[in-house]
Amino acid sequence: MARTKGYPEALEKKLHDQRFYGEDSNPEFTKNVKAISRTIAHMCYQCGTCTGSCPSAPRSSYRIRKFMRRAVLGLENEALTDPDLWLCTTCYSCADRCPRDIIPTDVIMSMRNLAFKRDIVPVNFLKTVTAIYASGHGVPNNDVNRAAREKIGLPRDPPTTHSYPEYMPGIRKILDHYQLKANADRIIKEREG
Ligand code: SF4
Ligand code: SF4
Repeated sequence: MARTKGYPEALEKKLHDQRFYGEDSNPEFTKNVKAISRTIAHMCYQCGTCTGSCPSAPRSSYRIRKFMRRAVLGLENEALTDPDLWLCTTCYSCADRCPRDIIPTDVIMSMRNLAFKRDIVPVNFLKTVTAIYASGHGVPNNDVNRAAREKIGLPRDPPTTHSYPEYMPGIRKILDHYQLKANADRIIKEREG
């Protein structure tokens, strides 16, 4: 974590202290990651099989093994503020191969969960929340699709909430219970404003 030395921001960034100290570790973070992911994250012994399996690793700086280390050491800020957190495709290759039966994918999901609670979230997720709140679909039907469906003899709308909008209040109730829509609207507004 950065040590403040009173330099201008750009310089401070360059001189950022790369070492970690006891005080950088938040044991609550490790506990929360384990509670949400329901996997034995603390058993990771850093073999690297997960990163070796990861389709995102060769094309980016994303390293699942590094996130596992952060989980074990309680390096909350390091993990949650890293943009690479959002490069996992959730393919579960790491989970299939981990020799310690850990599910690293779910560790990433739990970290994304915790990041969202700190308003750290790519806007696509927020737009998906908005779409589901409006139609019950993350990818709603549109007029081009309706015409294509008609052409192949299908009803213009599938037998989902598009055809049965009476189920929408129930869906909205679930999203409202977790204040997902309110938070999505607020974060979108703050970023645009
Ligand atoms: S494969 Fe499992 S034990 Fe090995 S580094 Fe990844 S999470 Fe840790
Ligand atoms: S689930 Fe995520 S971290 Fe694991 S191998 Fe796939 S992309 Fe990589």
